[in-house]
Amino acid sequence: MSSRILTRQVSAGNAPRSLTVGVCARQGRRDAIRSLRLLRGVNTVVRTVCVFLCILMLHGAALVSDAAAADRGQSKAVSERAAERREMVENQFHGLGRTTITDKAVLDSMLRVPRHLFVPTKFGALAYQDSPVPIGYGQTISQPYIVALMTQALEVKPGMKVLEIGTGSGYQAAVLAEITDRVFTIEIIRPLYQSASERLKNLGLNEVKTRLGDGYYGWKEYAPFDKIIVTAAALHVPPPLFEQLKPGGKMVIPVGGQFETQRLLVVKKEDSGRRTSETLTLVRFVPLLRGDPRD
Ligand code: SAH
Repeated sequence: MSSRILTRQVSAGNAPRSLTVGVCARQGRRDAIRSLRLLRGVNTVVRTVCVFLCILMLHGAALVSDAAAADRGQSKAVSERAAERREMVENQFHGLGRTTITDKAVLDSMLRVPRHLFVPTKFGALAYQDSPVPIGYGQTISQPYIVALMTQALEVKPGMKVLEIGTGSGYQAAVLAEITDRVFTIEIIRPLYQSASERLKNLGLNEVKTRLGDGYYGWKEYAPFDKIIVTAAALHVPPPLFEQLKPGGKMVIPVGGQFETQRLLVVKKEDSGRRTSETLTLVRFVPLLRGDPRD
């Protein structure tokens, strides 16, 4: 019985015109009062449940808004300077002497990763230019086209395990992390290692594993890798890196001296373990340093 019907019955019993009618009315009134009390009891329970539900909903809303805020943080980063990223992808990834970048995963990744957050603030204006940008300690974040070319040549697929030597700003690692969630990266300069690790975390790329050390020796603990990318020029293909490549795996690495034109090599490990390599293009990279980590 709904509370609205009961209310009407109570007011009808207020003015009895005969005894029978009066008894009936009194009886009705008592019933109504009892029902009202009952209803009040029910109301209290309903109210308590409502208050409890409201608290739960508010708590839920707070959690959802926390998640949304974290999300907004990321999507804000992704939406910031998106037009410049589109221009970068549309204008820099083809043309005279360039291999056209057609791999959709690479294009999508580079459209998403906020490159401007990987360059020092003072060079923010250069973030989407067709050139490398200094990141301190004599190092540079590679030109966008070279990042795209190397990533495309690696042919990374979701779920593949990829090792990068030379974390630098963390940009290349972030581009890879958009394609697979198993990215490992080693940096030899401590402050770069620290700032890149922090930057990757702040961007929500917690799955990227970073390490301080000489990448020449690879990362045995997580070997073998489907793909290896070296972003500093080596004098030769480091044997430990080739060893840590899966059969059928691939390494992209610039090879050559510091003051020479270097060759960007695609080195394959055949299923038989045999090594083959081809030159993708000529490049200029900072040298692969050797020895203990430096400050
Ligand atoms: N991939 C980086 C840029 C690379 S610059 C980015 O996306 O920003 C080359 C980087 O390789 C530098 O940070 C340099 O400190 C690092 N490096 C040089 N020799 C290394 C070595 N032996 N092991 C690990 N990192 C090395």
